[in-house]
Amino acid sequence: MKTPVCEADAKSGFLCPACQERLSKGEITDLDVEISRILHKYREQFSLEPVEVVKAIDCGKKLVILSDSDAGLLIGRGGKVAAVLAKELGKPVKIIQRTNDLRKMIEELIMPVRVLGINEVFKAGEKEWRIRIKRSDAPRLPLEMKSIESVLNNLVREKTTIAFE
Ligand SMILES: [Zn+2]
Repeated sequence: MKTPVCEADAKSGFLCPACQERLSKGEITDLDVEISRILHKYREQFSLEPVEVVKAIDCGKKLVILSDSDAGLLIGRGGKVAAVLAKELGKPVKIIQRTNDLRKMIEELIMPVRVLGINEVFKAGEKEWRIRIKRSDAPRLPLEMKSIESVLNNLVREKTTIAFE
């Protein structure tokens, strides 16, 4: 299992100097520490050994969990694991698996809204991904724009923005 903090910290509930430094630098958040502990707690009960969680992001109404392992592992049969995570964390969770398929990741994130297209644009010499969405779909977005862009910037190395048209 891989969690945002190291295994010893996930188990003990205390942060080692290395993870403490990552927390101070803002590379990880208190939420990352919390989810690491929770995942460790349920490791055996839900067979979470193959799970690789990168980061958890608080998106207001929901928490987005970025995973490098199959999203199904954190959802569980009949959504059982996701339900326990939501209960422990106090908010519904949405699990997004990190892949090379940008479009698929975005569509999972903004479901039921569809992506019109994705363009690579250059702004002041810097590459940026522009995700195009129908303006009339804006009210159906499941998360606030700020949250969506924050998740995208954790999923994709280059800057990513949403453009309505
Ligand atoms: Zn540590």
